Amino acid sequence: MVADIAANLARVRRRIELACRAAGRPSGSVQLLAVSKTFGADAIGQAMAAGQREYGENYLQEALPKIAALADHGPVWHFIGPVQSNKTAQIARHFDWVQGIEREKIARRLSEQRPESLPPLNVCVQVNISGEASKSGIAPGEAAELCRSVAGLPRLKLRGLMAIPAPVKEARDARAAYRRLRELFDGIRQAWPGLQLDTLSAGMSNDLEAAIAEGSTMVRVGTAIFGRRD
Ligand SMILES: *Cc1c(COP(=O)(O)O)cnc(C)c1O
Repeated sequence: MVADIAANLARVRRRIELACRAAGRPSGSVQLLAVSKTFGADAIGQAMAAGQREYGENYLQEALPKIAALADHGPVWHFIGPVQSNKTAQIARHFDWVQGIEREKIARRLSEQRPESLPPLNVCVQVNISGEASKSGIAPGEAAELCRSVAGLPRLKLRGLMAIPAPVKEARDARAAYRRLRELFDGIRQAWPGLQLDTLSAGMSNDLEAAIAEGSTMVRVGTAIFGRRD
């Protein structure tokens, strides 16, 4: 079955709007990142025709042909997967954002390799908010220090934090993880107001309401827009 991407996008936008209203937040305070991994340039083209501009990709080799195919249409590309050090040069060249910064070494390489002809690369530090041994992200207690180092790199623009909490059964439990993330974010912002951090990237297809209730400013939604991944 072919997903009706325009209708799905409209439903997701509606969910975001209702969640903002329930949280007493202005609609428009949450950006929608469409996660297009495993879907082709044709699907992204349909989403673009429906007004969606920002896209998230997890794998460099999969993303490059899509980025080339859609270059004339002006999408904004976010790299949201783990960054391997042998991929930093291409990621720094082809993406507008990198959301999975968890090591200073990777951040330094991205900064050194960001072409001078492009604006600074927007980045988020990824936090392992549920403390899972298997998951990406820096420990919450080390996030502020990494933010401070990343903010000092000349060709990066630190925008905020990103997290993928462990799956939970209850919406209430999802909120607890997102609350811890927001408290961490608020603490870092208060410690360094000069950094002007504006992005809390949190919430996916299943739990975007919980994330918005706890202050997310960017939800990353794949399945609810493009359909199930194989
Ligand atoms: C795949 C992915 C998403 C989208 O997940 P859905 O449940 O399909 O909405 C969001 N964030 C990251 C980092 C992902 O890898």
